[in-house]
Amino acid sequence: MTRPKTVVIGAGFGGLALAIRLQAGGHDVTLLEKRDKPGGRAYVYEDGGYVFDAGPTVITDPSALEELFAVAGRPMSDYVDLLPVSPFYRLEWESGYAFDYVNDQAELDRQIGRKSPADVEGYRRFLDYSKAVFEEGYLKLGAVPFLHFRDMVRAGPQLARLQAWRSVYSIVSRFIRDEELRQAFSFHSLLVGGNPFATSSIYALIHALEREWGVWFPKGGTGALVAGMVRLFTDLGGTVRLNAEVDRIETANGRVTAVATRDGWRMDVEGVASNADVMHTYRHLLRDDRGARKTAASLARKRFSMSLFVVYFGLRRHRPELQHHTVLFGPRYRALIDDIFRRETLADDFSLYLHSPCATDPSLAPPGAGSYYVLAPVPHLGTAPVDWETEGPRYRDRILDYVETRCMPGLREDLVTVRHFSPVDFASELNAHLGSAFSLEPILTQSAWFRPHNRDDRIANLYIVGAGTHPGAGVPGVIGSAKATAGLMLADMPGR
Ligand SMILES: Cc1cc2nc3c(=O)[nH]c(=O)nc-3n(C[C@H](O)[C@H](O)[C@H](O)COP(=O)(O)OP(=O)(O)OC[C@H]3O[C@@H](n4cnc5c(N)ncnc54)[C@H](O)[C@@H]3O)c2cc1C
Repeated sequence: MTRPKTVVIGAGFGGLALAIRLQAGGHDVTLLEKRDKPGGRAYVYEDGGYVFDAGPTVITDPSALEELFAVAGRPMSDYVDLLPVSPFYRLEWESGYAFDYVNDQAELDRQIGRKSPADVEGYRRFLDYSKAVFEEGYLKLGAVPFLHFRDMVRAGPQLARLQAWRSVYSIVSRFIRDEELRQAFSFHSLLVGGNPFATSSIYALIHALEREWGVWFPKGGTGALVAGMVRLFTDLGGTVRLNAEVDRIETANGRVTAVATRDGWRMDVEGVASNADVMHTYRHLLRDDRGARKTAASLARKRFSMSLFVVYFGLRRHRPELQHHTVLFGPRYRALIDDIFRRETLADDFSLYLHSPCATDPSLAPPGAGSYYVLAPVPHLGTAPVDWETEGPRYRDRILDYVETRCMPGLREDLVTVRHFSPVDFASELNAHLGSAFSLEPILTQSAWFRPHNRDDRIANLYIVGAGTHPGAGVPGVIGSAKATAGLMLADMPGR
């Protein structure tokens, strides 16, 4: 008996995790990736000894990764080492106030008490709330597909009890009074593309998730985790094809029949899972299917999350005074976030995330030197149709000037290499609709059953995995989506 022949389109974390689960479950899997390297948003740039992880740097929920290797019957330590990061983040404001977010209750109490004594107790209550949503929203429902409306109805009472209609910021403000501390405990949803003022308070679970399992960084960078997953997949007998951009998914009688790439390769298949952008999948790859065109039309009416502008730069000198992760809050919080999600032009100010991986692993730059990246959330191309070709270099320079003034004096003098990635690159390199960095915005009416389903409703053997399906963006989210999608695929097409 032959094994079911399946294809996974896209080698992002979701696609890789699904390919591993299917191959381990007895499928004969081919993983097709458009770019010359796997990883998707977790691509790696290497410029003269400086190694830049392009995307995810805050690795949480290591247990989901360990589970993946365990499913394949291999210890994770044979493939990748995760190093603990502390503090999780340093948060800094223009006022000069700094908060080290650590995983130590006494130290957190001390820092909160020094800023706002009344908020020590409030923070404890916020943590209890966050743990409750973590339990319901992540542990119970994070890797379970929502295919039917009844699945949503079943989750309804818990969602109501946890006041899921409120926003993250609104829930944090119920417990915490100090404005800077409110920002410190509400900005997390931005890490998965959610506006803290609009995203469901369910996303407050990220706080408990980090407190429960910590923040980690793979030895050798996030790229080493990607490489470890690829090696696991090929060790299991899976096939990876790079530079293999899928051009179309062929269907007949409500089923996928074959997949074809732009360079003329074609294969008959028993099932397909797309890890590519959901809009690209339905609008472009399935352009010959009438039902899929309807799905694309309905997706076009949804809200997509913001984009990002990322500057990768290498300095002659490592800056040991910087923590691994720093958030530089700008002069405005709510008003800036409103601009990012709604305004048709770029704001003059920014809030930034600064990555200094050599703080944990000096091997990511030449001896004594430092690799960095700094990112600014920016509107996607549908919100602000900025001409990034012209604006990109200007915006890059403004960001570097700001970082130099805020926390890296002499940055320009030490600069050895610099490159940037803008919303148009998200659109052209990753086929991301509107250049969104995180796919559909994670608001309540676009979550769980309301999000594109892990298995298509009309095309029986078409599946979705990654940020555009349940549960959503972020590394733990897409690894969870792979578990949900693999469960469906292995039930529909048992492996041999
Ligand atoms: C700058 C940045 C920083 C981030 N930081 C964090 C963080 O610290 N922690 C965290 O948890 N999350 C973070 N995220 C979010 C996280 O990276 C993403 O949500 C997650 O990696 C998305 O994975 P995915 O499985 O959806 O696939 P993606 O990474 O989106 O990969 C999809 C793949 O499909 C390929 N593809 C597209 N079209 C085709 C086609 N036609 N044929 C073949 N292949 C195709 C693409 O080339 C790509 O490789 C960050 C994101 C960004 C952009």
